Amino acid sequence: MSATLIKGTEIREQILEEITAEVADIKEKHGVVPGLVTILVGESPASISYVTLKIQTAHRVGFKEIQDSQSVDISEDALLALIDKYNNDDSIHGILVQLPLPKHIDEKKVLNAINPDKDVDGFHPVNVGRLMIGGNEVKFPPCTPAGIQEMIVRAGVETKGAEVVVVGRSNIVGKPIANMMLQKGVGANATVTIVHTGTKDLAAHCKRADILIVAAGVPDLVKPEWIKPGACVIDVGVNRVGEKISEKTGKKIAILKGDVDFDAAKEIAGYITPVPGGVGPMTITMLMLNTLKSLKFKLGLA
Ligand code: NAP
Repeated sequence: MSATLIKGTEIREQILEEITAEVADIKEKHGVVPGLVTILVGESPASISYVTLKIQTAHRVGFKEIQDSQSVDISEDALLALIDKYNNDDSIHGILVQLPLPKHIDEKKVLNAINPDKDVDGFHPVNVGRLMIGGNEVKFPPCTPAGIQEMIVRAGVETKGAEVVVVGRSNIVGKPIANMMLQKGVGANATVTIVHTGTKDLAAHCKRADILIVAAGVPDLVKPEWIKPGACVIDVGVNRVGEKISEKTGKKIAILKGDVDFDAAKEIAGYITPVPGGVGPMTITMLMLNTLKSLKFKLGLA
């Protein structure tokens, strides 16, 4: 039996349509739209393409969007002053600093300077703490974990009482998704295990999982025999394993692989996310949702 594919590309379209409708409604009733600024330092092609995609998506859903591009030589003080300017700008509800920053700038200091109520990436220590407390305290769950949870919920997978195993303990994926799945609430209430390079028997833990979330960055780490029949497998890994010529553009593109042996795993799992087209498209989508939430908090609508 082949697993049901959970397609991030399709869920993204549904959510962006929902956001567009809500933005139009708020604009009509309250005369404001969410404002998102992305601050880009330097001209790294990868960072430019990420920021462009974020700005295009913000434009598509009807946000006010600003791309603030700064020279690679900007001083740390000048960057902090810029963040302060947007912290005090009432038309801006989300501030995003594209990482990595040049070496002469302390990334932690810059991220911590963002007003936690405009930290739509959810990386400020205040928002990390709010996520840990759970419930109504949570303002901005970090975008990739929020996307993972949304996919599980929209696929109709039962989370209450489920054995969730998370492979990886990074601050941007593993720890926050594990924390979100253990909270008492809808789309969570699970029994959660986190495994990592210090874990004695990775396979044994994975075999127990009703929901297996893999964010290790190791191609094909999870073998098909580690998957419980019928399990929901969320593959967060994005690994470049080579290059090929795109049929569409004729240009060289990366060959991407997840952390799970997809072809074999899909014959055992009940649900599985593909790579690419699975978790990847959800991250920017959840950034839009967080920015909309930020305005709703301000208007007392959330
Ligand atoms: P990371 O910071 O490198 O963390 C990887 C985690 O996996 C670490 O906790 C590491 O354990 C664990 N790990 C690595 N190899 C392992 C092994 N052989 N056995 C058990 N655990 C192992 O990576 P990340 O930022 O979380 O990203 C993980 C993957 O997700 C990457 O491929 C990344 O590109 C992808 N990603 C995708 C999205 C998206 O689609 N939107 C977003 C973020 C990340 P230790 O802590 O013990 O070292």
